[in-house]
Amino acid sequence: MTDPNLSQWARDAYRWLASTLGDADSQPEATDMAVFHDLTEQQETQLLNKIRAYRRARFDAGYGALTLPTEYGGAGLPASYAVVFNQLEQQFPVPPSTELISVTTGLVAPAVALFGTETQRSKFLAALLCTDMLACQLFSEPGAGSDLASLSCRAERDGDHWVISGQKVWTSGARHADLGMLLARNDPTVVKHAGITAFLLPLDLPGVNVRPIRQMTGGSSFNEVFLDNVHVPDELRLGQVGQGWKIATTVLAFERQASGAGTRRKGGSFADLLALARRLDVSADPVVRDQLASVYVLAELHAATARRVARASAAGAPPVPAASIGKLVSSQLLVRIGETATDLLGMRAVAHIDDAFAWTKHVLGAPGYRLAGGTDQIQRNIIAERVLGLPAEPRSDKGIPFF
Ligand SMILES: Cc1cc2nc3c(=O)[nH]c(=O)nc-3n(C[C@H](O)[C@H](O)[C@H](O)COP(=O)(O)OP(=O)(O)OC[C@H]3O[C@@H](n4cnc5c(N)ncnc54)[C@H](O)[C@@H]3O)c2cc1C
Repeated sequence: MTDPNLSQWARDAYRWLASTLGDADSQPEATDMAVFHDLTEQQETQLLNKIRAYRRARFDAGYGALTLPTEYGGAGLPASYAVVFNQLEQQFPVPPSTELISVTTGLVAPAVALFGTETQRSKFLAALLCTDMLACQLFSEPGAGSDLASLSCRAERDGDHWVISGQKVWTSGARHADLGMLLARNDPTVVKHAGITAFLLPLDLPGVNVRPIRQMTGGSSFNEVFLDNVHVPDELRLGQVGQGWKIATTVLAFERQASGAGTRRKGGSFADLLALARRLDVSADPVVRDQLASVYVLAELHAATARRVARASAAGAPPVPAASIGKLVSSQLLVRIGETATDLLGMRAVAHIDDAFAWTKHVLGAPGYRLAGGTDQIQRNIIAERVLGLPAEPRSDKGIPFF
């Protein structure tokens, strides 16, 4: 930390965190291993209320949007300040967050800052950053996930409105969201990447129907979102007509970087695993030590990659393809932690003995992170093509109109 202003600023930030969150290093809910929570609507609202109260206080204190220009409600600081704040914040018992909070502040708000009109920025930006308004990501469809540009949700212009019909799926947090950042096809006659437009869709508009999807963890953090002739004013179009793919790729790069950053606790960690081995009195067993060592190495690799990506970001670089390595290692780490816990617990993993069942929630949830924000295979494709410079996969749809 060579910038003297940054050192003083970090001391002030630490003091603010301590006065707002209490003692450093006293982490909440140490036994919560769930990657996805199994909550009632009321519990989910309570969880969201706690994190929203903290986010509002953080925003009001000037730590909510550090790198955003001041005219948009940010602090206008270099990315190095955001990296330092993240590191400091991780030392404190921050209320547990959810995917919807990350999508709102880490994906939708930056997209509005980058691509929104002045009116959209003043209407939505501060509200999203302080989480007064929550926004979900309406990208994936039953026929468009990895190949997102194949999406078929239609947007047809009708005077000063657009009429939108289609189906979105796997939408995290949609039941609690006010707004959705939506991709829809405005022109099927051009190549598939060119005919997509983005919108900020209020989820209370007539024709929007959100249905929960029950997951194998028991919870329903995902949803299907059906859009039936939804009339959206043109002033809620995000970016230019046909600019949707550029917006999507920018947002997906933010998502890969955030998923690999490890700044949000997602279920059990290496420390939880070690504590489990000690509690079961097996930490001296050579086979267990070997397993723990291999998870530890993966955790360190993940932390080192996250630091490397954070340093690039602090130096002002846009999200880098290397963020895909962080995302890949992050999801592998979650899965390996779950597998090792299952080995240690044996049959106890499926029984309600002590807190053993908490690990079952981890094991069932962890594979979801191999898919969210781009699957492992897609991250490998990105690493191969954009980090290692290997030849691109053959594309049968190149230069061909969508239909
Ligand atoms: C926890 C979670 C949260 C999510 N939240 C959201 C959300 O809020 N909003 C949203 O829009 N979406 C969300 N998604 C959806 C997510 O983005 C998609 O699941 C993901 O992009 C994969 O798409 P798919 O499920 O259609 O699988 P498919 O694309 O059908 O892939 C099936 C399999 O084929 C492989 N595959 C596909 N193409 C290639 C290729 N070119 N090379 C090699 N292998 C390939 C994939 O890796 C995968 O193993 C979420 C998903 C999860 C699991």
